Amino acid sequence: MAWKTLDDMDLNGKRVLTRVDINVPVENGKVSDTTRIDRIVPTVKDILAAGGTPILIAHFGRPKGKTVPEMSLNITLPALEAAFGQPVKFTTLEDAPETIAFAKNQVVLIENIRFEPGEEKNDPELAQRLADLGDIYCNDAFSAAHRAHTSTTGLAHLRPSCAGRLMAAELGALEAALGQPKRPVVAVVGGAKVSTKLDLLGNLVGKVDHLVIGGGMANTFLAAQGISVGKSLCEHDLAQTARDILSKAQTQGCEIILPKDVVVACEFKANAEHSIVAADQCPDDAMILDAGPESVAKIGEVFSTAKTVIWNGPLGAFELEPFDAATNAAAKSAATLTKMGKLTSVAGGGDTVAALNQAGAANDFTYISTAGGAFLEWMEGKILPGVAALDS
Ligand code: AMP
Repeated sequence: MAWKTLDDMDLNGKRVLTRVDINVPVENGKVSDTTRIDRIVPTVKDILAAGGTPILIAHFGRPKGKTVPEMSLNITLPALEAAFGQPVKFTTLEDAPETIAFAKNQVVLIENIRFEPGEEKNDPELAQRLADLGDIYCNDAFSAAHRAHTSTTGLAHLRPSCAGRLMAAELGALEAALGQPKRPVVAVVGGAKVSTKLDLLGNLVGKVDHLVIGGGMANTFLAAQGISVGKSLCEHDLAQTARDILSKAQTQGCEIILPKDVVVACEFKANAEHSIVAADQCPDDAMILDAGPESVAKIGEVFSTAKTVIWNGPLGAFELEPFDAATNAAAKSAATLTKMGKLTSVAGGGDTVAALNQAGAANDFTYISTAGGAFLEWMEGKILPGVAALDS
C-alpha cells in the first residue's frame, strides 16, 4: 500500500475533488441518520483549513444514469451545512465550472454523480470533465471503493491523488487487522448463510489463527459433520463446501471453533420458549438460534490469548431476545480486552454494526467500519479498485 494522505499534498489555493459517501437514510424529506456525514467532516475541515476548496462528489440512491429529482443530493444540504458549520454551494455538473470559479475556500457539492450515464461505466470522458474542475483528487469514500466507477477510479488517475481522513483510518484499521496483524489473530464470522460468505471463509482460513463460526452458518458446518440440526436454518447442499473449508483450515493450521452448545427453540420469535443443549442434541422439531454459554466461554478464552480480532456477522438471531446473548457476551468480552489495551478489534459489515451497537460494545472496539460491501470484499482478500487507484 503506497497511498498518500492529505498531509502529503499542498492544498493551499487548490480545488480538491473529494469523493465522499453521503448516501444517507432519509425519512419524511429529512436526513434521519447523519453518521456518514459526520465521518467526512475531518476531511472537509482539513482541506478548508489548509486553504483548499473541497468539491464534494457523491452518489445518492440508484438513479442509473438518469436525472431523478427525488434522488437529488440537495436533500442533504441542511445536514451538511450543520455538520461543517458553514454554507455549502450546491451545483449541477453542468454549472460546476462557474460555481467553483466563485467558491474559493468554500465547500461545493456537485449533484448526484450517478445522474451521469458515464459514472458507473468508468467513462473516460466523464473522468476528464471532472478532472477539469479540480487540481487534486481525494477519495474519502472507502465504502464505495469496491466499485470501479468514474468518480472512484477513472478520475484518480488524472490528478495527483490521496486518501481522505476517513479512508486513511479505514485502511489503517484493516491493515492492522488483516494485512500485518499482531498474532494470534481471531476472526469471528457469523450471520445467516455460508453461501454469502464463501470467499470470506476461504480467505480467512489461510490468514488467521482461529476462526469462530457462528450464527446460521455454523449449522451448515455442524450438519456437514453428520450432526442433526433439526429445523435450523442450514444449507445442506453446501455440506461438501463446508468440509472443504474445514480440511483447508486443518492444513493451514487454523483452528475452527464451532458452537459446543446451542440455544434451541421451536419458534423463530422473540422470547420463544428455549433451552440450552449440546450442539449435537438439537431436537428434530427445534432450531438452533444462538450459541450457548459454554461456546461463549470458549470464545472468551480464545480472545484472551489473542492480539487481534476481526469480526463480521452475529453469532445468533440477535434481533430476537434472548437469542442475542452470545453475540452480546462475546462482543463485550472483545470490547473489554480492547479497552485494557490487550486487543486490536475491528468489525464491520451491515448487521454487525447494529449487533455490536445493541451489545453496547461498539464504542470500545478499535475500529468499526460502516462500509458494508467494501469491508466484506477487503476481508475476502479482494483488491478494491478505488484503493488500488490511489496507489502511487
Ligand atoms: P448476515 O447478513 O449474513 O450477517 O446475517 C445476519 C442475520 O443472520 C441476522 O438477521 C440474524 O438474525 C441471522 N441469524 C444469525 N444466526 C441465526 C440462526 N441461528 N438462525 C437463523 N438466523 C440467524
